[in-house]
Amino acid sequence: MSKLFPTYARYPFDIVSGHDCYLTDDQATTYLDFTSGIGVCNLGYSNAAVQTAVAQQAQKIWHTSNLYASQLQEDVATLLVGDADKLVFFCNSGTEANEAALKLARKATGKSAVLAFSDSFHGRTYGSLSMTDNPAIQAGFGPLVPEISFAPYNDPAALPQITADLAAVILEVVQGEGGVNPASGAWLKSVAAKCQQEQVLLIIDEVQTGNGRTGQLFAYQHYGLQPDIVTTAKGLANGIPVGALIGNAALATAFNPGSHGTTFGGNKLAMAAAKAVLTQLTPAFLAQVQTKAAYLEQLLQTELAPLATVNGITGLGLMQGIHLTVPVGPVVTALQQEHLLTLSAKHDTLRLLPPLTITTEQLATGVAKIKQVLSK
Ligand SMILES: *Cc1c(COP(=O)(O)O)cnc(C)c1O
Repeated sequence: MSKLFPTYARYPFDIVSGHDCYLTDDQATTYLDFTSGIGVCNLGYSNAAVQTAVAQQAQKIWHTSNLYASQLQEDVATLLVGDADKLVFFCNSGTEANEAALKLARKATGKSAVLAFSDSFHGRTYGSLSMTDNPAIQAGFGPLVPEISFAPYNDPAALPQITADLAAVILEVVQGEGGVNPASGAWLKSVAAKCQQEQVLLIIDEVQTGNGRTGQLFAYQHYGLQPDIVTTAKGLANGIPVGALIGNAALATAFNPGSHGTTFGGNKLAMAAAKAVLTQLTPAFLAQVQTKAAYLEQLLQTELAPLATVNGITGLGLMQGIHLTVPVGPVVTALQQEHLLTLSAKHDTLRLLPPLTITTEQLATGVAKIKQVLSK
């Protein structure tokens, strides 16, 4: 039968086309999408500017090596950091961005220990995997990268674990895979302050929360944090594989020529797509995301929170988790029968990551379907 390693428990339909916030499968069924891939196609599946940028770039050139100057990389870096004293390294994925962050933190500080948090997810390669608190994801792959420890997320009890012997602390502002858990602004600020006091680098993983998902370019901007390193990927190029590490310019000496690199990272196709994405994430667009998010949060509270199958609702922006008292798997499948695509996350969380371009009418249609399924 399948010639593929069974690394995914795949649903039995193949999505073959997409338009706006709708996806159509190989049986000609059309779904309203509350997933954006997994927080990837944030501008929907037929964004004209991204389509044009990728098509035009494909006609010119899609790859040169990183041995040559790249105006496109410079353009995307400028869109990411503005005139802040920061530098960017481009790679191909979230896990690669976190891998680069771990390497940069160790080399720049001359220290090796890293603190991550309970229910974290940072990716599947060895460094990222070692910083991921999920026994199911780590099992059988040891020995992992040494000197990585964990502290309780969004809990003041974590603060004493931030000590001067650490190279870095890595965290998500809203944990995605871990169950759509937002940290409080107060806790995030206390972690940032302790890192600064102990001269520990703060790495914020914005792979899922970045690129407008929460109504800011990056979620940490809601709280005025000043991370030393930020990683991002998923939504950055609306589906063309890309990752990025953004770091304080003071770290530059640790990433000197030959110390780190990638063949495909920052290729011209991905950069053309990322440039088209970031150009659209204007203050006005982000304000619209916040307005839609407020609408969605209100709707989830009034329509879903009272249900017996719902234990609570958490999230930030258009990243929302409905914590269920029933197993989430059958709920996702039942919603597919109702032509709505949703995601799950840890701890029986129904995770919603709709395209940022979704309308309030489409949000209301989707929430009505969820209410119908969760009321059964
Ligand atoms: C998805 C994700 C990753 C891993 O990204 P890949 O592109 O799958 O390697 C890392 N961190 C967070 C927070 C993520 O959501």
